[in-house]
Amino acid sequence: MPIGFIEILDDTCKGCLLCVAACPKSLLHQTKKKINKRGLYPVEFVDPEGKCNACRLCAIVCPDVAIRVYKQPRKPKTEQPAAAEAKAG
Ligand code: SF4
Ligand code: SF4
Repeated sequence: MPIGFIEILDDTCKGCLLCVAACPKSLLHQTKKKINKRGLYPVEFVDPEGKCNACRLCAIVCPDVAIRVYKQPRKPKTEQPAAAEAKAG
């Protein structure tokens, strides 16, 4: 379970790449897979291993306020016995 994740507002992003340089985990990438309403290439957040720690550095450096950062609580790793029983029954 990742600690954090971000949302990029594609149509606000101007592809300046400041957030790419700022992320200590290298989770933001330049991509030309999609083009926004302004005719620019928004960056992409790629975090398959759940490394984002919600440090907010990407959002702080963004001049266009195009990044929203979310922090989520850690959940216990053990499965709830009641839920397992419900699946079986
Ligand atoms: S919140 Fe921090 S770790 Fe997560 S994407 Fe932004 S800069 Fe990277
Ligand atoms: S800093 Fe903001 S505007 Fe620049 S590439 Fe990142 S999200 Fe887009």
